[in-house]
Amino acid sequence: MKREKGEKERLIDDYGREIRSLRFSLTNRCNLNCIYCHNEGEGRRGESGEISAELVIEIARVASAYFDIRRIKFSGGEPLMRDDLVDIVQGMRDFEDDISATTNGVLLSKYAAELADAGLDRVNVSLDSLKEERYDFITSSRNNLPKVIDGIYSAIDAGLTSLKLNTVLLKGINEDEIISMVGFVRECNNRGGGEVAILQLIELIPSFNPSMLNYKADFYGIEAELKSKASAIKTRRLQRRRKYFVDGVEVEVVHPMDNTAFCANCSRLRITSDGKIKSCLLRNDNLVPVETVDEKHIINKLRLAMKYREPFFGKKD
Ligand code: SAM
Repeated sequence: MKREKGEKERLIDDYGREIRSLRFSLTNRCNLNCIYCHNEGEGRRGESGEISAELVIEIARVASAYFDIRRIKFSGGEPLMRDDLVDIVQGMRDFEDDISATTNGVLLSKYAAELADAGLDRVNVSLDSLKEERYDFITSSRNNLPKVIDGIYSAIDAGLTSLKLNTVLLKGINEDEIISMVGFVRECNNRGGGEVAILQLIELIPSFNPSMLNYKADFYGIEAELKSKASAIKTRRLQRRRKYFVDGVEVEVVHPMDNTAFCANCSRLRITSDGKIKSCLLRNDNLVPVETVDEKHIINKLRLAMKYREPFFGKKD
């Protein structure tokens, strides 16, 4: 495609998929140990070095300046375990349109206000159960659920919204909690004085831990149930995700497994916690290391990573 003078280059892969956001895993470290965690596709938590704040900010700056990518998400591990998260957010706020983080919420009450001041726009908080015993089992931890709830309230009070509650549905463990979760989101909306929160039901990706296959919930059944309870249904253009409006609460369903539409609409590039560009959550055989903060180097590595991108589900053979 010919570009107009002054127009920014766009990162578009061989399948016509344009990159619109970067998802940085900032660390491998986590203060929970969820039984199903894919660790952003990095496999087991290792000892490899952590990407520097300087490199995170420079990759984001180059992506924004040269490729017009201005949406950033931080993940991990647990991104709030980075001591320099506030500096990272502050360092990029001037050239980003949307900076968000996905967090387990354990440390959120401590940092929500500071992060909002630094320029963080919103958070996704992972919450798989409202029952302490189940929460402890899923996260292999103890006594953290009250901290997470406090963290969610602090995020709403700090204006880190629209806040998404991320719930991975697990067969036989938490699939009966959808309506309680809807109730909790309604409470959050009451607290925030508007529609500040939504519920996101996520299908389990068992790929990194085959023993998790037993916990895979029946998403078709769950969607049928939501459909019967919903007052309205909308389909989001991106990844054709469906949104159900149940008891006044928006419930979005993220259904990636074997979903060709999910891959066909993938518009994100990932950066691993040790500074490699990762073109797909489910692949680690084509990572592109970014070794320096040199602008040309970063531009070339981003272009190179694009050559490796292909849909995991629905690739034409
Ligand atoms: N610690 C942060 C958190 O809890 O949000 C960030 C890292 S966590 C890997 C990011 C998101 O991935 C969470 O919402 C989590 O529920 C989701 N996730 C992790 N493993 C998953 C799996 N096997 N299938 C589906 N979602 C998963």
